[in-house]
Amino acid sequence: MRPELGLSDDLDEEIERAAETGLRFGAWPESIKTLWRAQKFHRRRRELAFINAIGLAWCVACLALDYTAGSQVFSAGLALRLGLVAPLYLLAIGAAFFGGWRAQRWTTIAAVPAFAGVAGYLGMHVATEQVQEYVMASALLLAMAIVILPLRVPWLAFMAAGSVAVLWAIWATMPVRGDAEFALLCFTSGIAFASLILPLRTARLKDQNFLFALRAQIVSRRLMEANDQLRALSDRDDLTGLPNRRYLERVFDDAFQASVRDGHDLAVIMIDVDHFKKFNDTHGHVAGDRTLTSVARTLEQTITGPGQMIARYGGEEFIAIVEGADEKTVLGLAERARQAVADRPVSTRSRKRVTVTVSMGVSLRREVDLSPTAIIERADAALYEAKRAGRNLVRLAGRKNGKPPAPVVPESA
Ligand code: GH3
Ligand code: MG
Ligand code: MG
Repeated sequence: MRPELGLSDDLDEEIERAAETGLRFGAWPESIKTLWRAQKFHRRRRELAFINAIGLAWCVACLALDYTAGSQVFSAGLALRLGLVAPLYLLAIGAAFFGGWRAQRWTTIAAVPAFAGVAGYLGMHVATEQVQEYVMASALLLAMAIVILPLRVPWLAFMAAGSVAVLWAIWATMPVRGDAEFALLCFTSGIAFASLILPLRTARLKDQNFLFALRAQIVSRRLMEANDQLRALSDRDDLTGLPNRRYLERVFDDAFQASVRDGHDLAVIMIDVDHFKKFNDTHGHVAGDRTLTSVARTLEQTITGPGQMIARYGGEEFIAIVEGADEKTVLGLAERARQAVADRPVSTRSRKRVTVTVSMGVSLRREVDLSPTAIIERADAALYEAKRAGRNLVRLAGRKNGKPPAPVVPESA
């Protein structure tokens, strides 16, 4: 299974350790290697297809060289290049597009010694007068293949050794071997192995870059997670765990805009614990804190419907917003919440059960309201009315006695 960055802490740790210690590719844990293959695969596909297509084009273009060397060379070149080298390159291109990792590697590796071998064979056995050109062409091909092919260094070394072995085997079968051919092959072998120095150097740097890029991804993901956690924390009230005033104001602003746009109802319930100063003075601040948490839980359990939200507004005050509910529904909800708080006594220092009550002011958005603040101000005024009327009450904004509003009589009636 392909491991995904960020899904496992173990993998994150392995990446960090590998990046810090500059671990060589061979020593990477299998999980990082799998990640490496997964990330390189698509790029390698395109690269191999492109490089092998160039190899194929070069193989065909070399027929021009064979042509200038005479008809015998041309017919041998035609047979060997089109019968052996070109099919191998076509296979490598096919594997690059449709094959797996191994098929891509082996077909690419096979095409290079075949190409170099055919050039060597033509030079050492057929076009003996042009042996220098042909062997030099195979040296050039080998050097280029080693430098540009996107394969790991051990496979490139294997490919270089295979090609050199093929060339020496062809040399060994020459009827007459001169010093010139020997020197040419020594030069070609030297070029092939010297060319390995470049991929050897760059592979190490690329591997390190890969690990650093992974580590950078891990660090940035952790930062984003920490950011999300911080934001979530900054939206919560420490004591009660309810959303705080800042968060509520943001949500309320959006709810107000949506309500104006869509024309649906929007209501606010301001809630204040009754005689809480006295409660603190009598039972202590710790019991007071516990009480606020208990009241918060009760309110949260009552005001839970869709489009409803309760937040701590500050001190012993809470605020609820209710979307898409008419006056009667909101008043019913407030009444149930008030009753629920009154029905759940809290325990004090002396393990006594004490009844705590809340007063509430309810206000609904009106057409004339230009901002959410207007609704809150009316709810606050209604709360003040509830306090004045004796506490443990719900009052609707704009009515002194809190009675439901009179039914609206249509003008035509
Ligand atoms: P009323 O019924 O008119 O609202 O009276 P009240 O005593 O509740 O109102 P007042 O505004 O006079 O007092 C509010 C008290 O709430 C004062 C303050 O000590 C207390 N309070 C505010 N925040 C906290 C808190 O986080 N923890 C505790 N324990 N007390 C708090
Ligand atoms: Mg208060
Ligand atoms: Mg109070």
